[in-house]
Amino acid sequence: MTVPVHLSQRARWAGEQPVAFLMQQAVDRAEVISLAAGLVDHTSLPSVAACEAACILLQHTNARSSLQYGTTLGYPDLRRQVQERYIDQEHLDGQNPNVDLDQIIITSGSQQFLHLVSEALIDPGDIVLMSSPSYFVYMGTLANLGARVIGVPMDEHGMSLDALQDIMCQLQQEGSVDRVKLIYVISYYQNPTGVSLSEERRPLLLELARSWSEKQRIFVLEDAAYRELRYEGPEFHSLHYYDAPGDTVIHCQTFSKPFAPGLRTGFGFLPRSLVAAVTDLKGNQDFGSPNFNQQLLSVVMDQGLYDSHLQKLKRVYKKKLGVMLQALDQYCSGFQGVEWIRPHGGLYVWMKLPMSIDTGSGSLFFQIALKKGMTYVPGEFCFPSESTQVHQSCLRLSFGVESEANICEGIRRLAQAIDETISRNLLR
Ligand code: PMP
Repeated sequence: MTVPVHLSQRARWAGEQPVAFLMQQAVDRAEVISLAAGLVDHTSLPSVAACEAACILLQHTNARSSLQYGTTLGYPDLRRQVQERYIDQEHLDGQNPNVDLDQIIITSGSQQFLHLVSEALIDPGDIVLMSSPSYFVYMGTLANLGARVIGVPMDEHGMSLDALQDIMCQLQQEGSVDRVKLIYVISYYQNPTGVSLSEERRPLLLELARSWSEKQRIFVLEDAAYRELRYEGPEFHSLHYYDAPGDTVIHCQTFSKPFAPGLRTGFGFLPRSLVAAVTDLKGNQDFGSPNFNQQLLSVVMDQGLYDSHLQKLKRVYKKKLGVMLQALDQYCSGFQGVEWIRPHGGLYVWMKLPMSIDTGSGSLFFQIALKKGMTYVPGEFCFPSESTQVHQSCLRLSFGVESEANICEGIRRLAQAIDETISRNLLR
């Protein structure tokens, strides 16, 4: 007799996440050009810089400390470097960065930071608001915790604050406004649309969050994963910059995109009220991210290897983005109702097809694209479960990992798939 296994509620909430489906597609058909994968450019990964830093680190008299356990908050030198970098990013010279070293935590990727913060704040049934569409992996994290995720419509300037205000009023009417814990914002070159929140909306969003923080604090969780990948267009202050009292914004960034995701190192700034809860949770989980990786990154920054790599990498991505946009112009501009957003940074291009084409993972179009030899992220994955409009005909294209030639060929195949689907729809 087989003895049944009773999984936890958490495991059942975790369910099947799109990321597993997407990985499977890539593994099953290696010949397929993946404009779905969120991986970074492979050929420019900084193996030489990492090797140089590792040698310096391991030949140092203190070499062994990098192979020892570290602290839960993370390697102090790296935290200081992160703070200095933030001061530079915001051009603060001499002004208060509004974040002390004991509020900076190093995590295993920014993904762990997002998870820890959510765990610290969310009970089942609590509400998180985010723009619709948004980053689907974080939606999975929230599903794990039994959160209610509500999508806020967005435009070319990011989350619509009018729509956010309306949703808050509705929640108040239904008696659940006190369950709102977080407003999640990818403030730079959002995943999946590539859109940044406009400078004008940044302080206004904080005001709005504060105005609704009556019975309990509503935090703004600022995910600045793509901040350093700007290829053109204006620089923006972070939301954190506008949080003068330091009580509302939780800010995170990552070393994955600008340097190397294999190091799985990210960091976050915590408002004072959350430091103890998040460190306790991390203490119970791993009592510190890999010390070696943190010390390696610290040497990389100290030696100027980080900045020189980033400058090179930005040129690589700018070129790849240009190739993708040019291929879209060449192959897709003839279709009626097909449009896409031209981002100023990040790794993604968001595309809308005519309403008659469903891009979902179970759709005819997805199958045709796969048969032609390309994949993309179906837009349906990117909409929170409670969204007023779900665009079944959207998709996310990534120019991160494929070569320039493959990006161009992938878009050519996508155009063939659009063409074939339109013809088939006409025959029906
Ligand atoms: N936030 C966003 C918006 C992302 O796109 C990603 C990675 N794709 C992450 C966070 C997590 O990255 P990491 O854990 O590697 O820092």
